This record gives sequence, C-alpha cells and structure tokens, in this order.
Amino acid sequence: MPQPRFTPCVSLPAVEVRNSEIHGLGVFAAKTLPKGSTLGFYDGRRYTARQIARITWDEKLTYLFGLSDGTTIDGGNGGNATRHLNHACAPNCEAQEETGEDGKLRVRIATLKRVRPGEELFIDYALTADESASPADYACRCGARKCRGTMLGAV
Ligand SMILES: [Zn+2]
Repeated sequence: MPQPRFTPCVSLPAVEVRNSEIHGLGVFAAKTLPKGSTLGFYDGRRYTARQIARITWDEKLTYLFGLSDGTTIDGGNGGNATRHLNHACAPNCEAQEETGEDGKLRVRIATLKRVRPGEELFIDYALTADESASPADYACRCGARKCRGTMLGAV
C-alpha cells in the first residue's frame, strides 16, 4: 500500500500539511486561494504574560505566538495546522490580529496574494528575541531575493 503524500486537514479544508523542502512540515494550499482568503485562526492554549514568563520552553518544539496584549498562544497545545506554517521573508500569507466575538484578540491567517493549489504557504515570523540571541540562531533560508537571512524581525 502506498503511503499518502500528505495529511488532509479536517478542520482547515483550504490547506494540507506535508513535508516541506524549507523546513520540517509545511502548510500547502489544497485548492486555489484568492487573495484575502482566510486559512484559519492560530489556535491553542492561551497564556497570560505572567504565566509565560514562568515557563521554560523546549526551544525546538515551541509553537508560541505572542499577541500585542501580552498574551501568548501555544499552537502545540490544542492548536491546528496553522502552527506548521513556515517562515519566509516574502510571504504569501500574513497573521492579522483582530478582536473576536468574545472580545479576545485572535490571529487570522489570510493570503496576501492568489495562491495556486500545491504552493507552500508562508508567513513572516518577524520574531523578537532577547539581546543575547544572534540573528544566526534564527537563520532563514527561504531563498527570497530580499531574504533578510534571519527569521527575526527588523530591529
Ligand atoms: Zn528569508
């Protein structure tokens, strides 16, 4: 029996999760996605700023997404396929913070341009790190002409 090439995503029908040539698993368009399409929301366990400061994370396995109000979403705990989005310096998707019906901030993942079926989907992580971190620790190999060489945001 041949193995399936990808894992269909039940909760987010617009995307598939499978091996990426860039890094680990990636998220790919399951169909043509017009500009402005919502893939889904970055979901997972929520932590307050105080809670997050008390936790020691295994850096290789974190799927943390920091919001502007200081809370953090851990996509590795109750999250969905959007946690597998890889970084690119010229991404075709973006994470848009907005206020949900419950009054809490949420993160919509939406396309920035039309995407064809099978294309990998990316966001710009624009990571922030403390001063001891070196940009080389967050090296980017996305291959974009304007690649910053790092997944850290502009400083
Ligand atoms: Zn890059």
